[in-house]
Amino acid sequence: MPIQELIRKHGIAPDDQKTLRAAFDFAEKAHGNQKRASGEPYTQHCLETANLLATWGMKDPMILSAAILHDVPENTDNTLDDIRKKFGDEICFLVLGITKLGRIKLRNQKDPTYIETLKRMVLAMAEDIRVVLIKLADRLHNMRTISALPYEKQQRIARETLEVYASLAARLGMGEVRGELEDLSFPIVMPKEYNRLVTQVKSRIENAQHYIPRAKKEVIKILKQNDMKFLELKGRIKHMYSLYQKLQRPEYDGDLDKVFDINALRVITNSVENCYAILGILHKYFRPIPGRIKDYIAVPKPNGYKSLHTNVFGPEGKYIEIQIRTQEMDAEAEFGIASHWEYSEFEKIKKGKKVSQKKLEWVRQLSEWQKDEVGSPDEFFESLKIDFFKNRIFVFTPKGDVKDLPDGSSCVDFAFAVHTDLGINCGGGKINGKLSKLETILKNGDVVEIVRSKTPKVSRDWLKFTASTSARNKIKNYLKKNSPGLIERWTPEFMKRK
Ligand code: MN
Repeated sequence: MPIQELIRKHGIAPDDQKTLRAAFDFAEKAHGNQKRASGEPYTQHCLETANLLATWGMKDPMILSAAILHDVPENTDNTLDDIRKKFGDEICFLVLGITKLGRIKLRNQKDPTYIETLKRMVLAMAEDIRVVLIKLADRLHNMRTISALPYEKQQRIARETLEVYASLAARLGMGEVRGELEDLSFPIVMPKEYNRLVTQVKSRIENAQHYIPRAKKEVIKILKQNDMKFLELKGRIKHMYSLYQKLQRPEYDGDLDKVFDINALRVITNSVENCYAILGILHKYFRPIPGRIKDYIAVPKPNGYKSLHTNVFGPEGKYIEIQIRTQEMDAEAEFGIASHWEYSEFEKIKKGKKVSQKKLEWVRQLSEWQKDEVGSPDEFFESLKIDFFKNRIFVFTPKGDVKDLPDGSSCVDFAFAVHTDLGINCGGGKINGKLSKLETILKNGDVVEIVRSKTPKVSRDWLKFTASTSARNKIKNYLKKNSPGLIERWTPEFMKRK
């Protein structure tokens, strides 16, 4: 997709076009002749990432430019500073977020608690909801082109996608994005289960592919005869992974005959009143199956999903699910938070003005997603920032392992978190490649390398700038063993305080 196509397709305003073109020119120069594993020019990935975001409803030039530039610092000779000079702080901040997220990799695949850590890390690193959305677009395009990668890499990325990013998309109400991420990962992560399911449903899906167009025609005829206003009629076949999960549930017990929504028709209309009117008309023609009418308009699902669902004996007397919803509900069901992203709302949030609770539902969803206790969502209403992790930071070793430390931690805390021995011999630290003082406070996403000295370096001064209980205890223990005189002087006082 050329840049002109992106601009035309999404109707980008003239002022914003300039920014996008400048971002593209910069990315094109920076990536030069780089190719993706699939053989495409690298900039195709940058444009596709931006295209996905715009398709989901996010046409803010800052977000789209950051999407176009997102791989520059990691994959080219141009730095974040170059981006800041040319495009300003905000785009630079977003690109930095993506760069930090890129460092997170699913390593310890066997450890189930690791998934929870990974979720926490993703949110802590992202710091801003826009970064999360750019990352989802980036990941979706990577998944669409994953077949070009070596097997091992596919395994890691697909598992990470299934466990972390698809579930993140679900939390943000992005049902379509979630479905696609899951379906792209499913055959790679669970090839046996996937193949079994495909064999099992193959004939049903083939039948559906013939039946849905006929059923569509019939329903359109009925709606027209009854002067029902509708905007669009879609046929959809259930996502494979979602079907797989449904069949795992005890009430289905692997029985495909108990699943009624393998294929469905979706009627899109313009008002809530029309949703109910259309339901009434369709029930007149197609006998509903008792107990299978769901009114998610009156009672939305916990993630905010709204729609009417009914299972009927449809055209030709066959079981079919019909879903009826407004255009707005449809966009929200597919693209969630991104679909009602309005630049003006975003500006309000930035300026600390109140926006409607509904628009910030994602805050609550995200906080639940990573299972952290948070107070009332009101606390976060004034900011776009994801700051559930005010008290923790995540820092990387040069190899990319992650250490979770309390806020205010220094190189010494980090050294002790890696290994007690490294802490004791901590002679210096490099933060993001730069030699730094031991007491320098670490920030989220920093890469820290400890310079090991030949002799122990522990000193009482370290207690002034270490924040983690574990490092402090180890320092005290060391001092007690190795310089009893020193430690005794303050121990009694310390005991009194207790
Ligand atoms: Mn990328």
